[in-house]
Amino acid sequence: MSSAGTPRIAVVGSGPAGVFTVEALLKSNCRRAFDVFDRLPAPYGLVRYGVAPDHPRIKSVSTVLRRVLENPAVRFFGNVTFGLDIGLDDLLTHYEAVIFATGAPGHRELGVPGEDLPGSRAAGEFVAWYNGHPDAPVDFPLHARQVAVLGAGNVALDVTRLLAKDPRELVGTDVPDHVLDGFRCSSVTDVHLVARRGPVQAKFTTVELRELGLLRGVDVLVRPEELRLDEADERALESNRQARANVDLLREFARRPTTDATRRIHLRFWRSAAAIDGDGAVREVRLADTRPGGGADEVLPVQSVLRAVGYRADPLPGLPFEGRTGTVPHRKGRVVDGGARPVPGCYVTGWLKRGPTGVIGTNKADAVETARCVIEDLADGHRSRASDPNSVPRLLNRRGTEFVNWSDWLRLDSYEINRGRAQGRDRSKVSDLDAMLAIGKRGQ
Ligand code: NAP
Repeated sequence: MSSAGTPRIAVVGSGPAGVFTVEALLKSNCRRAFDVFDRLPAPYGLVRYGVAPDHPRIKSVSTVLRRVLENPAVRFFGNVTFGLDIGLDDLLTHYEAVIFATGAPGHRELGVPGEDLPGSRAAGEFVAWYNGHPDAPVDFPLHARQVAVLGAGNVALDVTRLLAKDPRELVGTDVPDHVLDGFRCSSVTDVHLVARRGPVQAKFTTVELRELGLLRGVDVLVRPEELRLDEADERALESNRQARANVDLLREFARRPTTDATRRIHLRFWRSAAAIDGDGAVREVRLADTRPGGGADEVLPVQSVLRAVGYRADPLPGLPFEGRTGTVPHRKGRVVDGGARPVPGCYVTGWLKRGPTGVIGTNKADAVETARCVIEDLADGHRSRASDPNSVPRLLNRRGTEFVNWSDWLRLDSYEINRGRAQGRDRSKVSDLDAMLAIGKRGQ
């Protein structure tokens, strides 16, 4: 489709949520052109910067996203920050519809004393570091021997696995060189994953749990007494296949004999962090027993804490936001204001819409729902616009925004692939923002 004079739709965020929504709209044959904005010079959002590097199969979703972004009706504008380089008024002036898909890049707070002590970090900071996110510092200290990971979701499992994994097994992945070096210098011997509820209530999935048991040179330790189930748990297991599989696997871990492994993962249940203590840096975590009539507090001597208790979206300038859920209020994807009235032309999808839950595939159904609302409203024709495709690039140029287009990204992509191949791996990511921009503009 020629995009000159074609009404345009803007999508803010080039991760799975945003791109699946473009895909749903393209499939609907809505005859619109799409501009996809991202604040980073690289596309794919959480697929590139959130999925663990040792999960290449999940990372390969980027192939699907790429196909959509390479559709002739789609343009990519990287290194453009919503609210800074381009605002809501700009987008509503130039586009018929604006779809927000900026995810949940922030972190939920734990709310216990000592949470901000040096050595206590949100797990997301570690995820950003090992994925080479441009905002992450180059150094992530792995000097601790004992680490507590608080939370029992898949992020907790990801960071636990990466902390315990032999760095030689990361050599084939796309992690940046400084991350490989960081893992090689790690002092970590023991990782304690701490769940505030029991094994039946754990949020992690069995495939990811199983991976812990396959790590070379790592013992997975589970206390049989923490796997004991009460009647309510037994009943819950009957209707919850995932919990049943998790409990079976945990029981199998508990039966395993210990070895002379150099690293250990301790999976703990029914323990909640009451405080993180230390003089100037983390020294221990005080754990409360959360079972009814639970025993005395326990002190876990650790030098580092990763809080994996959930992500959180940040409010976007000009859009309503619900602080309690950390989402943009909406009806089936149509943004609504405090009085539940639709905000014309504004839509939301993905974690910003439903909160930080679900796997990448969950975004597909969500995208279809949002796309359906967009199509219905376009049919009404209230906000019809035949936009000049050059008006937004001109606006960005006038503002001095050094935006990145798809060809720029492809140059950076090739550079990373070639650099990785020279080291015998598929890709070696560039994480420095200035370097990403420079390589994108001039190639190798
Ligand atoms: P999550 O699945 O919601 O897990 C959060 C964990 O934190 C839960 O165990 C929760 O316990 C715990 N928690 C929350 N507040 C707490 C508190 N104050 N004190 C102690 N524990 C607390 O979130 P996530 O792990 O960040 O993952 C986000 C989404 O991404 C999930 O849908 C996940 O499946 C997905 N993901 C998938 C993969 C994969 O497929 N490989 C990898 C990473 C992430 P309660 O249950 O008791 O609230």
